[in-house]
Amino acid sequence: MDTARTIRNIANVVNLSTPLGLILIAVGRGRLRRHRHLIVADRVSLPVPAGAMTVGCVVLVFRKSLEEAQAGNPTLMAHEEEHAWQWAYCLGLPFLPLYLAASGWSLFRTGDRAAANHFERQAGLAAGGYREMPRLPFREALARLRRA
Ligand SMILES: [Zn+2]
Repeated sequence: MDTARTIRNIANVVNLSTPLGLILIAVGRGRLRRHRHLIVADRVSLPVPAGAMTVGCVVLVFRKSLEEAQAGNPTLMAHEEEHAWQWAYCLGLPFLPLYLAASGWSLFRTGDRAAANHFERQAGLAAGGYREMPRLPFREALARLRRA
Protein backbone atom coordinates (compact mmCIF):
# COMPACT_ATOMS: atom_id res chain seq x y z
CA MET A 1 0.00 0.00 0.00
CA ASP A 2 1.38 3.39 -0.87
CA THR A 3 1.94 6.10 1.72
CA ALA A 4 -0.70 8.53 0.42
CA ARG A 5 -3.42 5.88 0.44
CA THR A 6 -2.35 4.70 3.90
CA ILE A 7 -2.65 8.26 5.23
CA ARG A 8 -6.04 8.64 3.50
CA ASN A 9 -7.29 5.40 4.97
CA ILE A 10 -6.15 6.36 8.48
CA ALA A 11 -7.72 9.83 8.06
CA ASN A 12 -11.03 8.23 7.05
CA VAL A 13 -10.99 6.05 10.17
CA VAL A 14 -10.17 9.00 12.45
CA ASN A 15 -12.78 11.25 10.80
CA LEU A 16 -15.38 8.51 11.41
CA SER A 17 -16.40 8.07 7.78
CA THR A 18 -15.00 4.54 7.42
CA PRO A 19 -16.61 3.45 10.72
CA LEU A 20 -19.92 4.84 9.37
CA GLY A 21 -19.42 2.78 6.20
CA LEU A 22 -18.81 -0.34 8.29
CA ILE A 23 -22.03 0.30 10.24
CA LEU A 24 -23.91 0.58 6.93
CA ILE A 25 -22.45 -2.78 5.86
CA ALA A 26 -23.69 -4.34 9.10
CA VAL A 27 -27.16 -2.82 8.66
CA GLY A 28 -27.34 -3.77 4.99
CA ARG A 29 -25.83 -7.23 5.58
CA GLY A 30 -23.25 -6.88 2.81
CA ARG A 31 -20.56 -9.41 1.97
CA LEU A 32 -17.29 -7.90 3.17
CA ARG A 33 -13.89 -8.09 1.46
CA ARG A 34 -10.85 -6.04 0.57
CA HIS A 35 -10.30 -4.63 -2.89
CA ARG A 36 -6.87 -3.09 -3.32
CA HIS A 37 -6.84 -0.13 -0.90
CA LEU A 38 -10.54 -0.15 -0.14
CA ILE A 39 -13.05 -2.23 1.77
CA VAL A 40 -15.89 -3.48 -0.42
CA ALA A 41 -19.23 -4.86 0.62
CA ASP A 42 -21.37 -6.24 -2.13
CA ARG A 43 -24.97 -7.40 -2.20
CA VAL A 44 -25.75 -4.69 0.35
CA SER A 45 -29.46 -4.53 1.01
CA LEU A 46 -30.32 -0.90 1.73
CA PRO A 47 -32.97 1.27 0.04
CA VAL A 48 -30.47 3.47 -1.81
CA PRO A 49 -31.28 4.54 -5.39
CA ALA A 50 -27.71 3.95 -6.63
CA GLY A 51 -25.64 1.02 -7.84
CA ALA A 52 -22.77 1.79 -5.48
CA MET A 53 -21.77 4.33 -2.88
CA THR A 54 -18.55 5.05 -1.02
CA VAL A 55 -18.52 6.03 2.65
CA GLY A 56 -15.00 6.73 3.87
CA CYS A 57 -12.91 3.88 2.47
CA VAL A 58 -15.89 1.53 2.28
CA VAL A 59 -17.53 0.88 -1.08
CA LEU A 60 -21.08 -0.41 -0.78
CA VAL A 61 -22.39 -2.22 -3.86
CA PHE A 62 -26.15 -2.53 -3.69
CA ARG A 63 -28.05 -5.68 -4.63
CA LYS A 64 -25.24 -7.03 -6.88
CA SER A 65 -21.82 -8.58 -6.54
CA LEU A 66 -18.85 -6.34 -7.25
CA GLU A 67 -18.13 -8.41 -10.36
CA GLU A 68 -21.67 -7.92 -11.66
CA ALA A 69 -21.42 -4.18 -11.03
CA GLN A 70 -18.03 -3.98 -12.75
CA ALA A 71 -19.35 -5.94 -15.73
CA GLY A 72 -21.81 -3.09 -16.25
CA ASN A 73 -19.22 -0.42 -15.45
CA PRO A 74 -15.54 -1.49 -15.58
CA THR A 75 -14.37 1.90 -14.22
CA LEU A 76 -16.61 1.75 -11.16
CA MET A 77 -13.84 1.17 -8.60
CA ALA A 78 -11.64 3.99 -9.98
CA HIS A 79 -14.64 6.30 -9.59
CA GLU A 80 -15.41 5.07 -6.08
CA GLU A 81 -11.78 5.45 -5.00
CA GLU A 82 -11.98 9.15 -5.90
CA HIS A 83 -14.89 9.45 -3.50
CA ALA A 84 -12.70 7.93 -0.75
CA TRP A 85 -10.25 10.80 -1.31
CA GLN A 86 -13.15 13.28 -1.16
CA TRP A 87 -14.25 11.92 2.22
CA ALA A 88 -10.69 12.51 3.47
CA TYR A 89 -10.33 16.08 2.17
CA CYS A 90 -13.78 16.99 3.49
CA LEU A 91 -12.59 15.74 6.92
CA GLY A 92 -15.19 12.97 7.02
CA LEU A 93 -18.79 13.60 7.90
CA PRO A 94 -18.94 17.17 6.46
CA PHE A 95 -18.81 15.36 3.10
CA LEU A 96 -22.48 14.37 3.56
CA PRO A 97 -24.04 17.88 3.63
CA LEU A 98 -21.53 19.09 1.02
CA TYR A 99 -22.44 16.19 -1.29
CA LEU A 100 -26.17 16.79 -0.74
CA ALA A 101 -25.73 20.49 -1.53
CA ALA A 102 -23.76 19.62 -4.68
CA SER A 103 -26.52 17.19 -5.70
CA GLY A 104 -29.16 19.87 -5.13
CA TRP A 105 -27.17 22.34 -7.21
CA SER A 106 -26.84 19.74 -9.96
CA LEU A 107 -30.57 19.01 -9.92
CA PHE A 108 -31.27 22.74 -10.08
CA ARG A 109 -28.94 23.37 -13.02
CA THR A 110 -29.40 20.17 -15.03
CA GLY A 111 -32.32 18.17 -13.66
CA ASP A 112 -29.85 15.39 -12.84
CA ARG A 113 -28.25 14.80 -9.44
CA ALA A 114 -24.78 14.03 -10.83
CA ALA A 115 -24.14 16.01 -14.02
CA ALA A 116 -23.21 19.31 -12.30
CA ASN A 117 -22.32 17.80 -8.90
CA HIS A 118 -18.74 18.84 -8.10
CA PHE A 119 -17.96 15.54 -6.38
CA GLU A 120 -19.29 13.34 -9.19
CA ARG A 121 -17.54 15.44 -11.84
CA GLN A 122 -14.26 15.26 -9.93
CA ALA A 123 -14.61 11.48 -9.54
CA GLY A 124 -15.34 11.23 -13.28
CA LEU A 125 -18.90 11.33 -14.58
CA ALA A 126 -18.41 8.67 -17.23
CA ALA A 127 -16.39 6.47 -14.85
CA GLY A 128 -19.34 6.58 -12.45
CA GLY A 129 -21.82 5.67 -15.18
CA TYR A 130 -23.23 9.19 -15.42
CA ARG A 131 -23.56 11.35 -18.48
CA GLU A 132 -23.10 14.99 -19.27
CA MET A 133 -26.27 17.08 -19.24
CA PRO A 134 -26.71 20.61 -20.56
CA ARG A 135 -26.86 23.28 -17.87
CA LEU A 136 -29.93 25.44 -17.86
CA PRO A 137 -29.31 29.18 -17.72
CA PHE A 138 -29.70 30.30 -14.10
CA ARG A 139 -32.91 32.28 -14.74
CA GLU A 140 -34.47 29.35 -16.57
CA ALA A 141 -33.52 26.95 -13.78
CA LEU A 142 -35.02 29.34 -11.23
CA ALA A 143 -38.24 29.64 -13.27
CA ARG A 144 -38.46 25.84 -13.49
CA LEU A 145 -37.99 25.59 -9.72
CA ARG A 146 -40.84 28.11 -9.15
CA ARG A 147 -43.16 26.06 -11.39
CA ALA A 148 -42.44 22.84 -9.46
ZN1 LIG B 1 -19.91 8.80 -7.66
